Amino acid sequence: MNIQTGIEPILREIEAREGEIVALTQDLIRFPTVNPPGEAYRPCAEFFGARLARRGMKVEYVRAEGAPGDSDKYPRINVVARYEGSRPGPCVHFNGHLDVVQAGSGWTVDPFSGLVRDGKVYGRGACDMKGGIAAAVVAVEALIDSGIELPGAIEISGTVDEESGGYGGVAYLAERGWFSKPRVDHVIIPEPLNVDRVCIGHRGVWWAEIETLGRQAHGSMPFLGDSAIRHMSAVLEKFEHQLYPALAARHSDMPVVPAGARQSTMNINSIHGGAAEQIEGLPSPCVADSCRIVIDRRFLIEENLASVQGEMKALLDQLAGERSGFRYTMRELFSVQPTMADRNGPVATATAKAVRRILGRDAEIVCSPGTYDQKHVDRIGRLKECIAYGPGVLDLAHQPDEWVGVQDMVDSAKVMAVATMDLLTRG
Ligand SMILES: [Zn+2]
Repeated sequence: MNIQTGIEPILREIEAREGEIVALTQDLIRFPTVNPPGEAYRPCAEFFGARLARRGMKVEYVRAEGAPGDSDKYPRINVVARYEGSRPGPCVHFNGHLDVVQAGSGWTVDPFSGLVRDGKVYGRGACDMKGGIAAAVVAVEALIDSGIELPGAIEISGTVDEESGGYGGVAYLAERGWFSKPRVDHVIIPEPLNVDRVCIGHRGVWWAEIETLGRQAHGSMPFLGDSAIRHMSAVLEKFEHQLYPALAARHSDMPVVPAGARQSTMNINSIHGGAAEQIEGLPSPCVADSCRIVIDRRFLIEENLASVQGEMKALLDQLAGERSGFRYTMRELFSVQPTMADRNGPVATATAKAVRRILGRDAEIVCSPGTYDQKHVDRIGRLKECIAYGPGVLDLAHQPDEWVGVQDMVDSAKVMAVATMDLLTRG
């Protein structure tokens, strides 16, 4: 079969189905699949599965029993649909997360109505990533409906809990073989990395809580106690003068976008010290015996988790040597290894080639500043052949008035169809 000529009618068909892509995006946005706690997961998964079953795909529902947050009220329901081609061959899998973050404030439109205006679909999850899922579904439906004889298999999954780490979603499925060979060969995740970018991986994450310890005393005689807050201020001072410059100097070969994230970074997510201010904003007059921060350290593929942890411990131990009475605890909350697919591997090159064909310009090969479910496909599924490619604009994710462009969805659906054909029909 000649891909060059065989694909043209399919591309025209995808263009003709622009209204369907929009309608499916709207339908998905109208399920308020807010995570946490995991609202509307079941009806959304069942809607999604029913749609794919109509194309003759074999649809299975997998509840992540015992995963964090799973309960009868908030079941973690995943859906996987599979289309078998006419003869053996590789399997291309499109995976999208159905959950969204809370709407938050600052919206000028209803976040769950799926409003269409000026070529954009608005709503929580429009960009991250229901628009990308709709594009993938319509691309696959157009391939199936064309009647073209496809080898191999195509899968589409709608999974949950990506926004909270993916444990009840892709991680749960990966642990049970759903994201490994021989079942699956290539995975494309339509996360919002922009319609002309192929995302091959992401940085690592280390979240930790650091607590400095003091000794309580009356606030009028602070010299009788030892302030945990002052000890923490010494930690923050070390960050400013020692750690942040060191992180900023550490550059990566990972093509992370935006460029500001092409180095190691650290955010202090929160800080709490001293007694709570319970009555009219007045805390009790005590020297603080505890001060805590939660840090969010993002690290590069050139670093490793042990060195990241060791760097922080060395800094704190150094303070213990310099400051009298300095005591601390450090507790890891969460970690993710960095991951990067081979930019010259089949799934990255097929998608980049398809971008060039459809958009007429070279695809930018990028890495994501934050993590997404690729980590589970790589670490648990042991499948390196995984990228993110989708229509949404990266910067709009999680923001008020989130939207996805209709033309971007159509273009990305075409890219997905071309890349799928290419991957299924390679030698
Ligand atoms: Zn996402």
